[in-house]
Amino acid sequence: MDDYQPELADRRWRAYHEAGHAAVAWLGGKRLIHVALLGTAAEPASTDELGMTSAIWLPSQAVNVDVDVMSAMAGILAESRVTGAQNWQGAGACLRVGFRALNRKASNPSSRHARWRQLWKRAQLLLGKELVWAGVIRLASRLETELRLDGADSVQTLEGVIAEADRERIWNSVP
Ligand SMILES: [Zn+2]
Repeated sequence: MDDYQPELADRRWRAYHEAGHAAVAWLGGKRLIHVALLGTAAEPASTDELGMTSAIWLPSQAVNVDVDVMSAMAGILAESRVTGAQNWQGAGACLRVGFRALNRKASNPSSRHARWRQLWKRAQLLLGKELVWAGVIRLASRLETELRLDGADSVQTLEGVIAEADRERIWNSVP
């Protein structure tokens, strides 16, 4: 097609990928710092740095490894839901983040494996919730055009769909 613009097509799945990370991190109680797409004409970066979601645990919060692992997985899951394919190459960095988080919790390889599968399933179920996916869509649409949102703006966008008061209930609703 003459009007095919590869950068814009890429931008769409990358926006969903980062929105997936951000939505699940936020649902799990992390504070979003910023969500951004990199490597576009507006913000060049190396090809292995396609996006960036920064979220932190507040000093007053207990670190929840499950949230760290599931938000790492959620980027891959959200992306594959819109592309219809698993982009393992692009998923490498996120998988490493997830593995590293999981290693802090499960020490022996077989329990790590079981835990990984369980959290992958939970992340899938969470993104499958109508409200959560609506939040991802809204955040991704903004990212696709604006390329970078600060934490407060990202949270406001998610809260346009999921009320802060419902956040924990939704998080706990996946087994
Ligand atoms: Zn990622």
